[in-house]
Amino acid sequence: MTGHTDTAPILRVALPTPLRRLFDYRSPGAPGPERIEPGMRVRVPFGRRRLIGVVMETATRTDLPEEKLRPVLERLDGRPILDRAMLALLSWAAGYYHHPPGEVLAAALPKALRLGATLEAMEERWYLTPAGRDAWAQGEPRRAPRQRQLLAELAAHEACAGAAENRGGWRDAARALEVRGWIVSARVPLARAPVAGADRDPAHGPRTGPELNDEQRQATQRICQSLDAYGAFVLQGITGSGKTEVYLRVTEQALALGRSALVLVPEIGLTPQLVGRFRERFRVGMSVLHSALTDQERLTAWRDAFSGRARIVLGTRSAVFAPVPRLGVIIVDEEHDPSFKQHEGGFRYSARDLALVRARRAAVPVVLGSATPAVETLHNVEAGRYARLRLTRRAVQAAPPRIALIDLRANAHHAGLSTPAVQAMERHLGAGGQVLVFLNRRGYAPTLLCTACGWVAPCSDCDARLTVHLGARRLRCHHCGADSPLPERCPQCGFAVKAVGQGTERIEETLAAMFPGLPCVRLDRDVVRRRTDMEEAMRRIASGEGRILVGTQMVTKGHDFPNVTLVVVLNADQGLFSTDFRAPERLAQTIVQVAGRAGRGERPGEVLIQTEFPAHPLLTGLLAEGYEGFARTALSERREASWPPFSRLAAVRDSAATAETALAFLTEARSLAGRLQGVRLLGPVPAAMAKRAGRHHAQLLVESADRGRLHRFLDAWLPQVESLPSARRVRWALDVDPMELF
Ligand code: ADP
Ligand code: ZN
Ligand code: ZN
Repeated sequence: MTGHTDTAPILRVALPTPLRRLFDYRSPGAPGPERIEPGMRVRVPFGRRRLIGVVMETATRTDLPEEKLRPVLERLDGRPILDRAMLALLSWAAGYYHHPPGEVLAAALPKALRLGATLEAMEERWYLTPAGRDAWAQGEPRRAPRQRQLLAELAAHEACAGAAENRGGWRDAARALEVRGWIVSARVPLARAPVAGADRDPAHGPRTGPELNDEQRQATQRICQSLDAYGAFVLQGITGSGKTEVYLRVTEQALALGRSALVLVPEIGLTPQLVGRFRERFRVGMSVLHSALTDQERLTAWRDAFSGRARIVLGTRSAVFAPVPRLGVIIVDEEHDPSFKQHEGGFRYSARDLALVRARRAAVPVVLGSATPAVETLHNVEAGRYARLRLTRRAVQAAPPRIALIDLRANAHHAGLSTPAVQAMERHLGAGGQVLVFLNRRGYAPTLLCTACGWVAPCSDCDARLTVHLGARRLRCHHCGADSPLPERCPQCGFAVKAVGQGTERIEETLAAMFPGLPCVRLDRDVVRRRTDMEEAMRRIASGEGRILVGTQMVTKGHDFPNVTLVVVLNADQGLFSTDFRAPERLAQTIVQVAGRAGRGERPGEVLIQTEFPAHPLLTGLLAEGYEGFARTALSERREASWPPFSRLAAVRDSAATAETALAFLTEARSLAGRLQGVRLLGPVPAAMAKRAGRHHAQLLVESADRGRLHRFLDAWLPQVESLPSARRVRWALDVDPMELF
């Protein structure tokens, strides 16, 4: 090996610290089997602590003085647990989101691995020693039948799994034998139990699905033509148009090539049907990753993905970082869903956007499916960056629902329900249909009011009113969780109080009185707390026992309600006049998604939208031209106002005990910015709801027409912001490409 000078390299390690950098360490040994490679975990000294980190890269030189460069203490993995592609993706994400690499890593690795769990699942096994074999041959131990039996087992099989045999006192027997030196135990890699689905005969292909219609076939073909190259495809089709069937066919082809599929969904709890469809169709191992897993379950799911035993990896947001050897395709279902953007904590990434980056780097296609693609996504279609594949017809039933507006100012209404809406309900219920009433507000009423003195129950920790929960007899804050008994009388003047306005709980009560004998099923976070609650609600709806459904946002996702023939949107106006430029888009998506729940069976559906602003261009545009008409209007409005995607945004948000402190930090940060080139700073301003959970929130926006400029500015500016003394008096975070502006 001439010319090969493999001196011990510098290892650049990502550590769980809030610092925006990697840390240099010396490799402990000479090259050889103990060699440390990027992607392996190492234990290192850090100050007086020891930390576990991941080697992100190696280098030949360091800026650290020789005496400061400390050696790695220990290598935790015999092979990299993150491959080169994943390391590159994580580094890219740390750069793009300007976030500490150690915290980015925390999003990618299960906690158990970050704490040092082995890559391989291990188990304890017992082995017979030579002394033990002799003892066994001599019929020992005579008076301990359990020990004797264990020796027999070990003599017959080479080893015995500790965990599996740990019932009814086996462990005590084993310990006794161990003390006598007749058996020893060792931790060895677990003889792997097959992952879900993998036990089925792999020689059998997937179960056959329905014959595709022309649009589905074309979409599948287009995507599969580029199975070994990057391509971004927007699969746009209303609910029920057969998008999932296309995902299944594309996955099938990827599997047939020996590749694996990564499927991202907004929320597992709300989309059990999708998981079920994949499980049902394929006889390969599948790994499901979501936020409700325990640490151990997450570790197991991750190991299944890592080892390649799971050929389909399906999960929510953070699954975009799941290991998928021989990745063949990435599918993002409901790509417009805001939950793909992490909007809390430190590392605020968009799983949808990272899926595109990952697909490009892996040279595989990425499929973005939705009935209502994000306005940004449609802009990318127009710009030719994504290819659009349309599914215009429902797979099962042809007629799209009829949508109409009800003018709340021109029609009598009672308890939130207008006369035309009630009449339509009578008609549909009379004809045997089910009715879905949508209201994006849970609880009984949003306000508790004293009619004598005008007192309104406020949250003491938020700039918000408390919501009345009548059944529970509680007043609750939907922003901070504050919870107190429902007062009978005004605490200020002692007069009687009154619940004002409508929540789902009250609508349910009103409808029960209006349609006696027709059972109501409510779907919101107050009634659906666990997955089984949802299953029970779905059962009552599917069986036809529930005739009227009342629900929040929860009903716009995932589920089919095939016998619903009428959808009533009680109040469309919340999204029309918001300070957030994305609010109209959310509203349009919600209306289209909820409308898509209607008439999925044989009968055509009808959708009624109650509003006080029937002439609002958003609503009329949506009605006249559908979602795409709306999206065109929205894009031209954003172009006018220079909002994304016609500009790039980053938000610096902070919170503090007082409004002054929160604003002061951002004001100082702003003053550090110096001369701005192609970048604008907007604010700081208090958040629209400034006080939340007792803290005062504010934000400063950074805007630029050019992505590169924005990021160069952030690179130079953030280290200074970070070192401001006032930074220590607030909690702050950077949000690149924010989805919500408060
Ligand atoms: P989406 O994901 O767009 O909501 P699905 O793929 O779930 O649509 O399809 C809706 C329903 O139609 C499902 O019950 C599915 O099994 C069925 N379906 C989809 N494609 C076809 C087809 N080509 N022929 C018959 N039924 C189909
Ligand atoms: Zn009062
Ligand atoms: Zn509150």
